[in-house]
Amino acid sequence: MPTETSPDHAPEPDAVERPGVSWSGTVDYGPGPLHAPTSLEELRALVGRSTRIRALGTRHSFSEVAASDADLVTLAQLPPDLEIDTASRTVRVAAGVRYGELALAAHARGLAPANMGSLPHISVGGATATGTHGSGDRRRSLSSSVREIELVTADGDQLTLSREGDPEIFGGAVLALGTLGVLTHLTLDLVPAAPMRQSVHLDFPAARMGAQDLATMLAGGASVSLFHHWDGHISQAWVKQVVGADAELPENWLGGMRSREAVHPLPGMPADSCTDQSGAPGPAHERLPHFRLEFTPSNGEEIQSEYFVAREDLAPALAAVMPLGERIRPLLHASEVRTVAADELWLSPAYQRDSACVHFTWKQLPEQVAVLLPEIEERLAPFAPRPHWGKVFTTAPEQVRAQYPRLGDFLALRDRLDPERVFTNAYVDRLLGE
Ligand SMILES: Cc1cc2nc3c(=O)[nH]c(=O)nc-3n(C[C@H](O)[C@H](O)[C@H](O)COP(=O)(O)OP(=O)(O)OC[C@H]3O[C@@H](n4cnc5c(N)ncnc54)[C@H](O)[C@@H]3O)c2cc1C
Repeated sequence: MPTETSPDHAPEPDAVERPGVSWSGTVDYGPGPLHAPTSLEELRALVGRSTRIRALGTRHSFSEVAASDADLVTLAQLPPDLEIDTASRTVRVAAGVRYGELALAAHARGLAPANMGSLPHISVGGATATGTHGSGDRRRSLSSSVREIELVTADGDQLTLSREGDPEIFGGAVLALGTLGVLTHLTLDLVPAAPMRQSVHLDFPAARMGAQDLATMLAGGASVSLFHHWDGHISQAWVKQVVGADAELPENWLGGMRSREAVHPLPGMPADSCTDQSGAPGPAHERLPHFRLEFTPSNGEEIQSEYFVAREDLAPALAAVMPLGERIRPLLHASEVRTVAADELWLSPAYQRDSACVHFTWKQLPEQVAVLLPEIEERLAPFAPRPHWGKVFTTAPEQVRAQYPRLGDFLALRDRLDPERVFTNAYVDRLLGE
């Protein structure tokens, strides 16, 4: 009888388990199996023999973008390569590395990522694939810092594409929702590390939600997030400033008083997981995210939705949704407004449009949220919203497609790189077309 370790019964080279659910617990990734290769060779062999496979990052998406009806693969067992080149100010990083870890390593070499999302625990590959963003009138999505990608394509081959070498397709290849291949490594532009400070201002008067005031608030620092509850006023402004470049704000800023103690963006939550709000200078990676890397969020009792509109449409878009406030509030933890600078990535929600983001952190009430979203989307429709790919929305696929003028070019690129649709799933088929 062969033993478990005999060649006849040798385990698959990549550990196989059931994929389970997303961080929020609201997305079931499918029947699996979930593979965890430990080397590039194993990953290439796995992809080469799979007829349908999707890559998983750190599972932080709320939409079904990462789900699969067949194989799934996590890169968590691959070496966490991270090579910083101070001369070219770049980092080559394994796709499974978390953004916060990349930022820590860059900081040690006097460099920093150009921007970060609110949570530093998200993988570089997953953040890039969906156009994850932070905030900042002049700061672009995290995907736009990518200058080179290394992929395993459908037949298990390796493909490297770069901004300089492949300018005609690179804009379609970076932010691709995992549909072109498994990203193994990315090379990102970095910027010189500059100390930042953060302060939070509370309870702005109701009059401050007009276009001019919103624009002034959002320009109050290098990166600003405004929190509100659809009751006509901003309850918190998180202002992240570059020390020496941005003018310090007065205690009473536009009627919003500087908070004396640290706060959490969601009402009633303790602030110990949040980044420093004292105004003390610190590294950008400890100020730009709202949450600290060393605090692993223990649960995901929330769902998120987010819509990008043109910057100039922010005030009218908020005003259009405001009458739904009484129905939104019982389902809501908090809403956030951020800005993202235009980029050139074909599927980016900020494609060629300086954007403002209308965001909802919902309580975990998926059925009720699903009922309300179409009404919110109907009110946002005149502003040509582009939903965040990694968050929950109900916008009709034709409406989503209509927002992406380079979609045809993207589909042609996908036909070229993945003619058999090895990397598709139901979410992608529905939204981009089969
Ligand atoms: C608490 C919280 C805070 C958040 N804050 C922000 C924020 O500030 N800004 C923002 O824009 N979003 C935010 N998000 C959403 C999140 O950034 C995106 O959904 C992001 O895509 C999640 O990355 P991930 O690594 O978890 O990827 P997953 O959710 O696991 O996967 C997302 C997509 O990336 C693809 N993918 C992952 N790895 C690879 C790979 N190696 N190769 C090819 N494709 C791959 C997957 O197939 C899937 O299509 C937040 C989410 C949570 C839970």
